[in-house]
Amino acid sequence: MSRPVPAVFGSVFHSEMPVLAYENGAWQPLRWQSAHDLTLPAGAHALHYGSECFEGLKAFRQQNGNIVLFRPTANIARMQQSAKLLHLPVPETDAYLNALVELVKRAADEVPDAPAALYLRPTLIGTDPVIGKAGTPTETALLYILASPVGDYFKVGSPMKILVETENMRCAPHMGRVKCGGNYASALPWVLKAKEEYGANQVLFCPGGDVQETGASNFALINGNEIITKPLTDEFLHGVTRDSVLTVAKDLGYQVNERNFTVAEMKAAVKNGAEAILTGTAAVISPVTSFVIDGQEIAVRSTERGEAIRKAVTDIQYGIAEDKHGWLVKVC
Ligand SMILES: *Cc1c(COP(=O)(O)O)cnc(C)c1O
Repeated sequence: MSRPVPAVFGSVFHSEMPVLAYENGAWQPLRWQSAHDLTLPAGAHALHYGSECFEGLKAFRQQNGNIVLFRPTANIARMQQSAKLLHLPVPETDAYLNALVELVKRAADEVPDAPAALYLRPTLIGTDPVIGKAGTPTETALLYILASPVGDYFKVGSPMKILVETENMRCAPHMGRVKCGGNYASALPWVLKAKEEYGANQVLFCPGGDVQETGASNFALINGNEIITKPLTDEFLHGVTRDSVLTVAKDLGYQVNERNFTVAEMKAAVKNGAEAILTGTAAVISPVTSFVIDGQEIAVRSTERGEAIRKAVTDIQYGIAEDKHGWLVKVC
């Protein structure tokens, strides 16, 4: 069977979606509806006051034909955390996991072969139809999940030019670890400026020189045998891929240092041959090929270590390497 991957990432969806509604103070039983559109009151809380958060995770078709989810409980825990911080009703773990598993089962024929995957997009929105609730949390909500067959987010082997932004932030510092649409809207002006003015693919936000993350992925420096990345703070998104990469890197013999580091330190390291990677579910692991720092482009000399770490992670996802850390949940 051929399972086509649409040319545009995330543009084609499985026909149905599971929906969990929070009404009358309780989560309601799972229902299914068309994924084509969604009917909402025009006054819905999410549309006016940004009570929205989302997740991104993948299901993989392994070489033995099994279909697996990668670390779904880590994504569920993160949405529960986002929901708490946004004062949205917190989804229940079991109902959420069952909805994910059932969706992947129903969409099994659409899960593409390696190196592609089925991307899953759980979305939680506040639905109270009251525009007077600007300073009040929503009391009703919907959690729905889209499924979309996807190839590579960034084409493997293509240039990854990163603009280092030291003045502006991606989002308000207390919102960094919330996976919400509002943070993307907040970062968009700098992302567009980087593209237009420097032809950069991504912006690395380093407010005051503190190296944090890009608009949609985490960042790590690979300096010889050492991997350096910012320790978990409220200012940035705690990626599941970041955690997987650090774990696999330790297995590969790297020394992992979660510590703050500056643009000056990063620049000196890159000039001396250090590598750098972006990590995230959509992009997996993307080696950086150059940085623009203070208007000057600095090439990264190698992408070899980053590519080896990428392979170590994707080998687990596709069932080529042993799942030592218990990250895979078999669906069918
Ligand atoms: C989703 C996201 C990431 C990556 O998280 P993963 O769990 O690895 O997919 C990184 N940064 C931001 C801002 C994100 O929204």
